Amino acid sequence: NTRDESDITDQSKPRLSELQGAVSLKNLSFSFHTKNLNPVIQNVNLEIKAGQFVAIVGQSGSGKSTLVKLISRLYEPTTGSIEIDGCNISKIELYSLRKQLGVVPQDSLLFSGSIADNIRLKNLDINLDKVQEAAKIAMAHDFIMQQDDGYATKVTERGSSLSGGQRQRISIARAIVNSPKLLIFDEATSALDYISEKSICENLMSKNNRVTTIFVTHRLDSVLNADKIIVMDEGLVVEQGSHQSLMTNKGKYYSLYKSQNR
Ligand code: ADP
Ligand code: MG
Repeated sequence: NTRDESDITDQSKPRLSELQGAVSLKNLSFSFHTKNLNPVIQNVNLEIKAGQFVAIVGQSGSGKSTLVKLISRLYEPTTGSIEIDGCNISKIELYSLRKQLGVVPQDSLLFSGSIADNIRLKNLDINLDKVQEAAKIAMAHDFIMQQDDGYATKVTERGSSLSGGQRQRISIARAIVNSPKLLIFDEATSALDYISEKSICENLMSKNNRVTTIFVTHRLDSVLNADKIIVMDEGLVVEQGSHQSLMTNKGKYYSLYKSQNR
């Protein structure tokens, strides 16, 4: 056995390179006010196993974005905790945490440069094969190939030559290409058609090495096969389970589903 750099670790810090991607929320509450007034997240308990695909649904204003922002540590919980692989994220060095996350917001920015560079950013370790592999999962490959210069096609900051949905696909590929341990989509597919959104979900779910995925969406039909669906209402997780079990419950999810599938 030879020694290598991995022998030298800061024992007091978790070795983030070995993250599995299990997420656990414990009695999590959050308020935008300093005194715990009008909590936007109220006593949420949630267990996500490594590799699971978990959908978060609920009316707008129910706290979905705030919840995922807490998980990416853009906010600190007012009470309770968030653990990734059993590690309280407020005790993990922020940069090393963010490096493990792939977060796709609703409106991501492109910069002036080629499509390939917009996907791999400045990381030259990512070769074109990897870029294409990510773009395929993100349902971006086909439209990219139809551009004049394929992956070398230049785009501008506003991405004016691209539609909103195409820009979203590029930013999804950008998150996937870094092989994060946890992928978070916050209505990142809002400008996509239903078929593409559903295909992205299915691509992520059918990968051999599944990455833990938290997928916030309005369209319940896209996430019927999720391992778990979390239903939020006014800052509370009011229901959670598989599509089938939630339909049987005939609760909030059932009414949401019925309202979308008349
Ligand atoms: P969703 O993503 O489900 O639409 P949000 O998490 O964005 O819900 O919002 C949940 C609640 O928190 C809403 O009542 C919203 O008005 C409030 N809220 C969101 N962001 C802020 C903020 N930065 N400051 C104060 N209140 C906020
Ligand atoms: Mg939101």
